[in-house]
Amino acid sequence: MASHIVGYPRMGAKRELKFAMESFWDGKSSAEELQKVAADLRSSIWKQMDAAGIKYIPSNTFAYYDQVLDTTAMLGAVPARYGWDGGEIGFDIYFSMARGNASVPAMEMTKWFDTNYHYIVPELGPNVKFSYASHKAVNEYKEAKAIGVETVPVLVGPVSYLLLSKPAKGVEKTFSMLSLLGKIIPVYKEVICELKAAGVSWIQFDEPTFVTDPDSHKLQAFVEAYSELELSLSGMSVIIETYFADVPAEAYRTLTSMKCITGFGFDLVRGTKTLDLIKDNFPKGKYLFAGVVDGRNIWANDLAASLCTLEELEGIVGKDKLVVSTSCSLLHTAVDLINETKLDKEIKSWLAFAAQKVVEVNALAKALAGQKDEEFFSANTAAQASRKFSPRVTNEAVQKAAAALKGSYHRRSTNVSARLDAQKNKLNLPILPTTTIGSFPQTIELRRVRREYKAKKISEEEYIMAIKEEINRVVKLQEELDIDVLVHGEPERNDMVEYFGEQLSGFAFTANGWVQSYGSRCVKPPIIYGDVSRPKPMTVFWSSTAQSMTSRPMKGMLTGPVTILNWSFVRNDQPRFETCYQIALAIKDEVEDLEKAGINVIQIDEAALREGLPLRKSEHAFYLDWAVHSFRITNCGVKDTTQIHTHMCYSNFNDIIHSIIDMDADVITIENSRSDEKLLSVFREGVKYGAGIGPGVYDIHSPRIPSTEEIADRINKMLAVLESNILWVNPDCGLKTRKYAEVKPALQNMIAAAKLLRTQM
Ligand code: GLN
Ligand code: ZN
Repeated sequence: MASHIVGYPRMGAKRELKFAMESFWDGKSSAEELQKVAADLRSSIWKQMDAAGIKYIPSNTFAYYDQVLDTTAMLGAVPARYGWDGGEIGFDIYFSMARGNASVPAMEMTKWFDTNYHYIVPELGPNVKFSYASHKAVNEYKEAKAIGVETVPVLVGPVSYLLLSKPAKGVEKTFSMLSLLGKIIPVYKEVICELKAAGVSWIQFDEPTFVTDPDSHKLQAFVEAYSELELSLSGMSVIIETYFADVPAEAYRTLTSMKCITGFGFDLVRGTKTLDLIKDNFPKGKYLFAGVVDGRNIWANDLAASLCTLEELEGIVGKDKLVVSTSCSLLHTAVDLINETKLDKEIKSWLAFAAQKVVEVNALAKALAGQKDEEFFSANTAAQASRKFSPRVTNEAVQKAAAALKGSYHRRSTNVSARLDAQKNKLNLPILPTTTIGSFPQTIELRRVRREYKAKKISEEEYIMAIKEEINRVVKLQEELDIDVLVHGEPERNDMVEYFGEQLSGFAFTANGWVQSYGSRCVKPPIIYGDVSRPKPMTVFWSSTAQSMTSRPMKGMLTGPVTILNWSFVRNDQPRFETCYQIALAIKDEVEDLEKAGINVIQIDEAALREGLPLRKSEHAFYLDWAVHSFRITNCGVKDTTQIHTHMCYSNFNDIIHSIIDMDADVITIENSRSDEKLLSVFREGVKYGAGIGPGVYDIHSPRIPSTEEIADRINKMLAVLESNILWVNPDCGLKTRKYAEVKPALQNMIAAAKLLRTQM
């Protein structure tokens, strides 16, 4: 019985690659030094999988920046602006595409399906000349072989690659990417040919777009692509790997009837319906790579349950054709539990990071082969039981309160326009009211204060004093600038989710549980292991302190339940919506305490609401329903005069606009760095709805300082579509990554623009 790993994290257990890359980018170390760190990481990963007994070990899943960018390099699809001369693509061209350079901006980056990983979007069009320009796949295969490890080279499949691309500048938006198949297949053939010559016997193509409801045209492209490659692939065994969701029935039929494919990889953690499709019909003589070990979470596998599933599958596909695998690449989980020396022992026994998952996969494969490691399995059973019955997981009061929410509506009793009238009287705001999104620059000094307080190097009094001073500075600055609705600047927060997680029950934190987000950037999501409750108020002290410093309205600042959920590792022993409802109840208590403390404007950020949208369209409505319901739960109990804001980091929500409106917020602020026509239709809906809308009037992601004229022009364009009484003026996101030297003049110009336009009304 065999075992297989779809892919593995590249960063290293202590983010070695991150530090090596950043040092290289800063000119502090050489290309050779960076290459050495990378090679050491690769070899230790291969050796580790080999020692664990994994049969199909992946190679070419390493990337300095991103595997899609690696594919762009492989295909020689470098956009002309990077001045590539056609040789083998080196660090300069590669990192220029990823990060930009002094004269040319980077390529666009976007989310990899519904994960928090971001890939570099290929820019393609009819004039792109493809050529075999990076031999990384074959080099990595040879590198592994040289240390005695036989691997399965992994390539991003040609169809997914094209479907993940965007039209290059000047190319029609309607250009069919799939029309380029005939041009990239010859390059894939060359790659395959070279791999074969190097001795490769198994090759893996990742085609995750199979799960995204491909229409018949796209399905046809898969068939064409792989029949074109058939001849080149002969003599090799081929895996097509899908992941992140169920494969739709029609796509499943197309995929499994492709003759030249030897084995199919499915995500059986997120794709529970795929299991039924397999049971219904699986092609004779083909391999099934059964992804039963979750690549996107940190929980130890329920080995007994997986074994049951696998035994059933064995009956269908045959003993020698079943391969135990991970649900997707382990890239999306943390690296190694071994470094979590401070984590509570019991909680630790419930977890498995990438290194532990490799061992789980192999243990399952051995058990199927009749060599069950009884000790390993019984330790796992004990951990599963301890997790199930642990009193720290269950809080009956919370369970009851959350269960009581189901089916109920939870909506403020008055409609939004009536509420806005009540708020206008209370808050006494001018037309085109101005505000910011929450955070002010996080200075080195601030970070030092927080770090020293955490390390108990300074006392609580000293800490409170320092934060109060900072809040005072931020309040005075906003008064000088003449902003209408103030914020306290979030100086006490390290991260908008971690800050709340640390104060809620049911959350745990790791020391090294990093997951790559993009390039060298990693996030360390909190772990939600138990029922969530709020032992005491979390933000009331700081918000009321800030309010006491000014007579202007001070916005309370909270992170919404859906965002806390989507940016955490979530428990898998109850449905996600139940956990979300529990968080919503905790935030509701906070909202009501803020109101009692005299805070009349409360912003509940839902930056990550959209990114939780499931990949399969058939699951959208259900998700949006409970996500929006959770948001409403947090604020349905406040008075009409309390103004609820929400902030979302994206503007691309025309497909979910009805859900956004259904959140029933009083004011919605959104990112709008490119004012595009699509957004206008969203605004129009907003007009009907009546809520206040604050599309960002300038881009905070860039250090550039926009002029008053430019901002006024922006606002005027918005006024052409929106009624002036609902428009708010604000930047497009929080200011924490900017410097005061940028923030002050930018806000000055923003306020000047708002004032100028007020005089013209
Ligand atoms: N209130 C948060 C801030 O200003 C919002 C951040 C975000 O939308 N990502 O930092
Ligand atoms: Zn934002």
